[in-house]
Amino acid sequence: AKKQGGNRVVVFDELINKDKSDRLRIEARLRKAIQKKEIAVYYQPKMNAITNKITGVEALLRWNDQELGFVPPDQFIPVAEETGLIHPLWECTMREACTQIRKWNEKREDPLCLAVNFSARQFQDSELLVSKVKEILTECWLTPEYFEVEITESTLFIQSEETIMALKHLKEYGISISIDDFGTGYSSLNYLKTLPINCLKIDRSFIQDLQTDGSNSEITDAIINMARSLKLQVVAEGVEEEYQKEYLLKNECWHMQGYLFSKPLSKNDMEKYLNQ
Ligand code: C2E
Ligand code: CA
Ligand code: CA
Ligand code: CA
Repeated sequence: AKKQGGNRVVVFDELINKDKSDRLRIEARLRKAIQKKEIAVYYQPKMNAITNKITGVEALLRWNDQELGFVPPDQFIPVAEETGLIHPLWECTMREACTQIRKWNEKREDPLCLAVNFSARQFQDSELLVSKVKEILTECWLTPEYFEVEITESTLFIQSEETIMALKHLKEYGISISIDDFGTGYSSLNYLKTLPINCLKIDRSFIQDLQTDGSNSEITDAIINMARSLKLQVVAEGVEEEYQKEYLLKNECWHMQGYLFSKPLSKNDMEKYLNQ
């Protein structure tokens, strides 16, 4: 009678072992890729949908490995977090993106704001993180006003006091703080009121749920209203269709990001985009 259960355990063990060896392989390749600077920074435009002008970019990593092929960030970022490789990876990303934005901004009338994603793990030593951010911005000559930190709601709940102190310092320094994937976590209105944040980014899933008839819009509406009453900015991510844009504009959400405007672009393609 135990046979079936036994078999299941074996299958399950094999799955775990496969998962483990996949991760070990990703870890080994990732370590090399970071050393050799093989992970590219892509840039996705953030738009003011009223003026149809770009206001900034979000840095998103792209890794095409010789052995593993294309590995999406959703796969390698968790490995980087578990292994601590997130620290060197983040530092390379920061230096490259900050330097790049500074260069682009030299030729622009209205400077672009650079948004970088920060992982929860990075807030474990929050004092070091804050001083590193300041150091890199200074070295790359990027004004804090043109830098933005994106963190998810869950990051706020892990090591929350440390994290909140760090965010407070970054905000005092002039950096903007955005809550990414907003609506997927558990933030209450009362809790949000106390946080040092500037902006809520409505999660893509809610934007994709918007129907042409507007029946699935309650959460989007609620987030827009919540942002308004807290005097926070609001950005919609994952805008792919014209009707989504129209809906958001009608509801006074003016800042958007998504394939309707542009996919994340390589440095060269971003340059073309800015010069067109
Ligand atoms: P995220 O921060 O929520 O980034 C938005 C994701 O949505 C990106 O996926 C982007 O390419 C995708 N996206 C943007 N517009 C659209 C759209 O209109 N439709 C659809 N279907 N997708 C859209 P990506 O680049 O695969 O990144 C996935 C996640 O990996 C990011 O989610 C972020 O959490 C993480 N990530 C990427 N780069 C970094 C990084 O440098 N550091 C950290 N810590 N995390 C990163
Ligand atoms: Ca993000
Ligand atoms: Ca997001
Ligand atoms: Ca996400």
